[in-house]
Amino acid sequence: METYDALLASVAPAAGSGRTIFDPATGEAVGEAPIHELDYLESAVSAAAAAQPAWAALGHDARSAALLKAADAVERSAEELARLLSREQGKPLNGPNARFEVGACVAWLRATAGLPLEPETIVDDGETRAELHYRPIGVVGAIGPWNWPMMIAVWQLAPALRMGNAVVVKPSEYTPLSVLALVKVINEELPEGLLTVVSGGRDVGARLAGHPAIGKVMFTGSTATGRTIIKSSADTVKRLTLELGGNDAGIVLPDADPKAIAQDIFWGAFLNTGQTCAALKRLYVHDDIYDAVCEELTAVAKAMPMGNGLDENNVLGPLQNKAQYDVVANLVEAARASGARVLLGGNPDTSQPGYFYPTTLVADIANDNPLVAEEQFGPALPIIRYSTIDEAVEMANGLDVGLGASVWSADLKAARDVAARIQAGTVWINRHGAVDPRIPFGGAKQSGYGVEFGVEGLKALGVPQVING
Ligand code: NAD
Repeated sequence: METYDALLASVAPAAGSGRTIFDPATGEAVGEAPIHELDYLESAVSAAAAAQPAWAALGHDARSAALLKAADAVERSAEELARLLSREQGKPLNGPNARFEVGACVAWLRATAGLPLEPETIVDDGETRAELHYRPIGVVGAIGPWNWPMMIAVWQLAPALRMGNAVVVKPSEYTPLSVLALVKVINEELPEGLLTVVSGGRDVGARLAGHPAIGKVMFTGSTATGRTIIKSSADTVKRLTLELGGNDAGIVLPDADPKAIAQDIFWGAFLNTGQTCAALKRLYVHDDIYDAVCEELTAVAKAMPMGNGLDENNVLGPLQNKAQYDVVANLVEAARASGARVLLGGNPDTSQPGYFYPTTLVADIANDNPLVAEEQFGPALPIIRYSTIDEAVEMANGLDVGLGASVWSADLKAARDVAARIQAGTVWINRHGAVDPRIPFGGAKQSGYGVEFGVEGLKALGVPQVING
């Protein structure tokens, strides 16, 4: 375990030679991130390719043991990592935020180490014997976003390593320090060269996505970048897992108890201050309980403190960057101008430093309003009225994305029936956004393809090979 300063210094370049990263809550410098260019990517890929065969030869048990040790190392440095994450990403230490994210890294490393994966006997009838194995791919590229930078890096690298691959990670240019520090700690338990972070920009990501020595890209980010990666990967027929943007609907059935569900709806929508791919971003509420849900949700939302992440009191933080702040502010302004009713928030205090946008609830809004139809990715939730379940399902399915969704009801059977009609990779009942390392997670429609987590997620980091005979 190292101190916060030592950990940060261990990933920083010589003073003055890097790129300064600023705290989105205060505008103060957090530290310098290295600027890695294409030649650094080349050396990382070569080192990965050189280290991979010996790692693959270790077998599942030894690789899982290394992942468990890596989890222990992350746990030992958890507080330092959480503090750096809070300063760089903005999310508070407290609540389901920075400490929670580092805890999830530990949990995912351990769970991935423990997943069972045995060869499957497909046919054994006396004449034919066919077994299905999953062999390592080789070098895997992992490209991630800025909202849950550490957790998503672990979602990508842990199954890749477990399956015998080497990994080159390209974090978001907004949050490189968090990933550099996390991987520095994980690397205490791994052979040299096997896992490298390349702290580069979009050009480095594009090269990674087209690199002939990379067999698979795990990508989490926007749908627009996902489309570009599909094109870049075409020449080398690279395998892809794409976890892309969403705009998750939640449908509240008329029998739900507004008071009982308000807190869980709040966190389903405002987890990480709304900067979560599978957060609830459009809430459809039946006429009968519309006003009561608006009232209960407003009461819960009002009580949630937002501010600097290092203050233990806060559970909501700033937007991570100015571009995202502008997206949210413009969408809320347009909604207000259209005649929608702002129940809470909507008036940022621009005299304060930081990209803080207040918790915002918008009622009586049309389904085709951009605040509903676009992925706002921030602390603003539109609440749309409906009168029939068919109408609610049609609106929920009306977009070209389908990552998560939720149904809220006291009647589990009724909720499951509605859930089955929703076009999304996961439909939660009476909660939203809860992910689990044992349960496959992925998107429908333009939210991507392939799944992460669980045995299905492991298989996605291997090449299926049939031994026939
Ligand atoms: P983004 O697409 O702008 O960037 C993601 C990563 O791609 C960054 O590391 C970036 O440098 C890299 N990149 C950019 N252009 C590239 C190119 N041409 N080739 C290769 N790499 C390139 O996304 P973001 O703004 O960082 O993240 C927010 C988005 O991510 C939202 O849409 C959100 O819904 C989505 N997201 C999805 C999931 C999921 O599991 N489905 C999880 C988290 C975030």
